[in-house]
Amino acid sequence: TEELLRKSEKLSVVGELAAGFAHEIRNPLTTIKGFLQLIELEDNGSNIPYVTIMQNEIVRLEMITNEFMVVAKPQVSSYQMEDIQSVTEDVIHFLNPQALLQSIEMKTFIQENIPSLYCDKHQLQQVLINIYKNAMEAMNKAGTITTDLSIVEDCVRISITDQGCGIPENLISKLGEPFYTLKEKGTGLGLMVSKKIIESHQGTLHIKSETNVGTTMTIELPLTFERY
Ligand code: ADP
Ligand code: MG
Repeated sequence: TEELLRKSEKLSVVGELAAGFAHEIRNPLTTIKGFLQLIELEDNGSNIPYVTIMQNEIVRLEMITNEFMVVAKPQVSSYQMEDIQSVTEDVIHFLNPQALLQSIEMKTFIQENIPSLYCDKHQLQQVLINIYKNAMEAMNKAGTITTDLSIVEDCVRISITDQGCGIPENLISKLGEPFYTLKEKGTGLGLMVSKKIIESHQGTLHIKSETNVGTTMTIELPLTFERY
């Protein structure tokens, strides 16, 4: 329980700070970026390696603040009845070129007559993008990412299964903590943001994984959800 409390505290603090923090960081970043470009142009060449490093670090900071902006977004969220099948298919379409580059086949199994869901389409698409991105990054060879869309009791269930490296059992509970990443270029914010969005739809995210076999991320969103 202590662990749980610690986590939820961390998360609520992050949520509160996110909006202001991201904005405050982005403006000075833009300034620094501009002047770096100037230095790059005027330099005789000796400082270029340092400039390049600084520019790469700025890209990284921008990635982090962008992901924070998503946490901040619920304030301007727009909830509507949405066709969850096309919401999912749009994301798959969008990611397909990247998948093809990695020889990954995106398979879908969609139950007939999935009813509309009251949700924030853009937020849910962000969740799906984060999960598909992780799935693709976990696969270092050709394979399949399978999406199952179905109705289970009074929930829409979206299951995404990859054939990637998997996640060791003892690490699964750590996922979704801010900045928890095992990737050199990761932000460790994707799953945190995703969980937050799913929670704001009163849904759940369930992770099942086996090392060297693959991972299934299952999102369940209640059809009965309404926001007043
Ligand atoms: P990031 O992708 O920036 O590292 P995320 O929050 O998206 O941050 O993911 C956190 C960590 O969870 C990843 O670094 C990775 O180790 C692990 N992970 C998430 N999804 C998968 C997956 N489908 N397969 C294997 N590992 C995963
Ligand atoms: Mg990620």
